[in-house]
Amino acid sequence: MPLSTLFANNGAWAAAQTRRDPQFFERLCAIQSPDYLWIGCADSRVPANEIVGLAPGELFVHRNVANVVSPDDVNCTAVLQYAIETLKIEHVIVCGHYGCGGVEAALGEGLHGPVQRWIQHVRDAASRHALELGRLQDHEARWRRLCELNVVHQVESVCHVAAVREAWQRGQPLMVHGWIYDLRDGLLRDLNATVSTAS
Ligand SMILES: [Zn+2]
Repeated sequence: MPLSTLFANNGAWAAAQTRRDPQFFERLCAIQSPDYLWIGCADSRVPANEIVGLAPGELFVHRNVANVVSPDDVNCTAVLQYAIETLKIEHVIVCGHYGCGGVEAALGEGLHGPVQRWIQHVRDAASRHALELGRLQDHEARWRRLCELNVVHQVESVCHVAAVREAWQRGQPLMVHGWIYDLRDGLLRDLNATVSTAS
């Protein structure tokens, strides 16, 4: 597909939005007040807004390989800080997905460079649950389980980020959730890892 197609698509999309709602762009320019921050995988098959049916302006989004949250990552922690302190979002959703290539990479060898360093965050989750993962016989089962465990691990990481701890200290309402998306049926599942106060 040539890049010109993307511009053509964009023109058609903007025209359709304006036809449906003539004030759409005007309203969006005036204010950004999403209720949710989505921290998801960069995978092209997991388009955040689309799978939860939210329009532009309704979801603040951060995506990276394997939906990792590290208190040392200035990019992600800046997103969290802005979302909490400026936008006053009340729900942080860490959403992983089955079939995640980044998570599978953490189960294997042979990586190098930035991906290798980044995936170490997922390997940390795998190490913590090595016993449970070791009990699973086949690769597919281990991979699926690590996709879930990685989400729970990243939810815990969110809770250690300064902006989150400070919000809870101030008494600002803020919940952190762990969800997983299944590429096979397009459905989300809550991993029941929600945290709503400082532990
Ligand atoms: Zn992924």
